[in-house]
Amino acid sequence: MRGVAIWVWLVIGPVFCARAGEALKEQAPEWKAGAAAAVITPEMPLSMAGYAGRKEPAEGTEQELFAKALAVEDRDGNRVVFVTMDLIGVIERLRTAVAEQVQQKYQLPPHALLMNASHTHCGPAYGRDEAKTYFDSLTQTLVDLVGKSLDGLEPATLSYCCARCGFAMNRRTPTEAGYRNHPNPDGPVDHTVPVLRVARADGTLRAVLFGYACHNTTMGFRKWLGDYAGYAQEYFEQDHPGVTAAFLMGCGADQNPYPRSELPYAQKHGRSLATAVEAALEVNQRTPLHQRPLHGPLRSALEPVVLESAAEGRPDFPYPVHVVRFGNDLAVIALASEVVVDYSLRLKRELTKPDGPAIWVAGYSNAYNNYVASQRVLEEGGYEASNTPWKPSLEERIVGKVHELLGRLNP
Ligand SMILES: [Zn+2]
Repeated sequence: MRGVAIWVWLVIGPVFCARAGEALKEQAPEWKAGAAAAVITPEMPLSMAGYAGRKEPAEGTEQELFAKALAVEDRDGNRVVFVTMDLIGVIERLRTAVAEQVQQKYQLPPHALLMNASHTHCGPAYGRDEAKTYFDSLTQTLVDLVGKSLDGLEPATLSYCCARCGFAMNRRTPTEAGYRNHPNPDGPVDHTVPVLRVARADGTLRAVLFGYACHNTTMGFRKWLGDYAGYAQEYFEQDHPGVTAAFLMGCGADQNPYPRSELPYAQKHGRSLATAVEAALEVNQRTPLHQRPLHGPLRSALEPVVLESAAEGRPDFPYPVHVVRFGNDLAVIALASEVVVDYSLRLKRELTKPDGPAIWVAGYSNAYNNYVASQRVLEEGGYEASNTPWKPSLEERIVGKVHELLGRLNP
């Protein structure tokens, strides 16, 4: 009799276990999320990044600089960590050091690590030899930060929503002498404020990741400052104690905040952006009509596409293109270096489908190597064009790679 029971169990056991496994998977929370923040303001006098005119080191702190990490994990254990920083850019050496260590320590593969810099011009020139001590401690801080965000993973719900904010203006003005760096109210802009909303299992807000396409250059003085993005994060966190607010810089290479050059403007722009995030969350509405709940699977891909050097004898650039896809609900496309707004507008136009994911395009991610002008900007000339050392084939190459990766991650 016992022999029969064992035989029956051997036959139906695997089926039963598989069903039970399925049921457990159904019960598992759809998402987990964790967030962490760390101050990265230099404690020593360092040169400032962004404007060549400032030869003297910083003389003080107007606002602390922060790095934030937001970790998300789907039901199958797929993870992605977004690391955002109040810094000028993500230089290759930093990306490599952090990516190697988080892979070793937390088994987080490079395609699951998205690093983005706000491009504040009031942060340290951390790639210089004189900044080696700061660079090393920054690397350690970021690695620990990723660890903290993963340690803090807890059941969550995710949703996407967006609003608009208007202080970014195109900064390319056509004149008889060519394109000048000057506010142009008629030039192309992307005023979208995309927001990833992270709520705890009980529905309370845990974190927001939000974007905007505009240089963080309200100020260019000799004090540490996160600029408008720093204030937007600070104000949102003040208004929502316990919530982590992180900023993902968009394709703002040809966009400046206006008005500018006075600190109260940076604060006002920060308040405007924080208010736009509130608008996206629709905090005062009972029915959040425009919020899009996110479902899995979570998948990501990071691959280089070669940008050919426009100058003989100069090296080509393996330009990293990063796509993070939340099922059929949201795709975050993270492009590297200083990307002009045309890329964001074109990719959203080409990739947004009625039955497809919402498209969010970031710039200044994973590498920082010159400007990335569009075909149009290259033809027109001007500052962004003359600082793009790649052949005009770059736009089709980058856009083609995004299409390829997004298609490959189709759930
Ligand atoms: Zn710039």
